[in-house]
Amino acid sequence: MRILLVEDDPDLSRQLKRALSDAGYAVDHAPDGEEAAFLGESEPYDAIILDLGLPKIDGAAVLEGWRRANLSTPVLILTARGAWSEKVASFDAGADDYLTKPFHTEELLARLRALLRRSAGHAAPNLSCGSLRLDPRAARASVGGEPLRLTSLEYRLLHYLIMHQDRVISRTELVEHLYDQDFDRDSNTIEVFIGRLRKKIGADRVETIRGLGYRLIAVEDEAREA
Ligand code: CA
Repeated sequence: MRILLVEDDPDLSRQLKRALSDAGYAVDHAPDGEEAAFLGESEPYDAIILDLGLPKIDGAAVLEGWRRANLSTPVLILTARGAWSEKVASFDAGADDYLTKPFHTEELLARLRALLRRSAGHAAPNLSCGSLRLDPRAARASVGGEPLRLTSLEYRLLHYLIMHQDRVISRTELVEHLYDQDFDRDSNTIEVFIGRLRKKIGADRVETIRGLGYRLIAVEDEAREA
């Protein structure tokens, strides 16, 4: 999952970027409305956290621009305390949720998890595919109750695949949703990560569809390859 964080306060930005990375997300940061507008329209984010008070273009105008351009990415806005009219205007402009400053990082992460699962059509907080389970709250996964030891990138890959297990995911899509913009992206490395993930969760759980991409397969039994 890849997130765009739009916030002009350097300290808060640094703190949130770290918390989001620790929670398993790839994060891009935009410090003003102009860069936010550009990144939001050019990169395929899974969710956007948008501060309203921003230099260059204010957050509400950025959001309106995105929705006019038919961008359907869920957007969580950050507003000042007591600005109820601002909240109403933001929802009318296309926001999906809001958080009032100051807030606890844990609440931001919880709201983000809810937005992500709703936009992917999941109701339950934990994701499962056969006997494979993923808990976004703890950023952990297990097979048949056995915890998996995944690197952060393997976890991110599995999170994306399990979130979108109803369809085939191309390598390009994986590259776009697993890495932040500063990362040296190479779609060949996806194959390497798929290979490592298969070793950990069982090769039969990730199907390769030639020329199209990958799909997670629901396997119920707990037998795994050594
Ligand atoms: Ca601000």
